[in-house]
Amino acid sequence: MSKQSAAAQADVRPYPRRCAVCGENSVARCRIQYDAEVRHDGKLHTFSIANLGIDKCERCGEQYFTSSTDEEINLGLRSHLGLLTPGEIRAGLALCDVNQKVFADHLGIAAETVSRWLTGTSIQTRSLDKLMRLYFTMPTVRAALSNSEPVPAA
Ligand SMILES: [Zn+2]
Repeated sequence: MSKQSAAAQADVRPYPRRCAVCGENSVARCRIQYDAEVRHDGKLHTFSIANLGIDKCERCGEQYFTSSTDEEINLGLRSHLGLLTPGEIRAGLALCDVNQKVFADHLGIAAETVSRWLTGTSIQTRSLDKLMRLYFTMPTVRAALSNSEPVPAA
């Protein structure tokens, strides 16, 4: 996402930063109570984050979302929805001793999708979250999914 790469660049500049709205060097990192509204899986979800890290202008109050702000909101959404976190997915892969590519094949999705879940740039749908939980905990599910594609002729 271009918005995220721009934010990532902004993250390396020292505080206080120049405010794009009022022009003062008054933008500092702070933590706020934030009511998030995020669209996911075709539904709009609203939830509160008690301590969201955000860049805020101390003079005019303008708020700037950085890449770490977006990551915290994504984590908040996962927790709100009760979905597996990147760390939990990583742990599941280790437990089942599968790499991202094999796992993606078994689930019938692109390896890039798994990669985006693990970096926190995107969040799995509820149905894929359920499938992952079955995969991680039930050897019979893993066996069934790993045999679901025809073996290519040698
Ligand atoms: Zn300002």
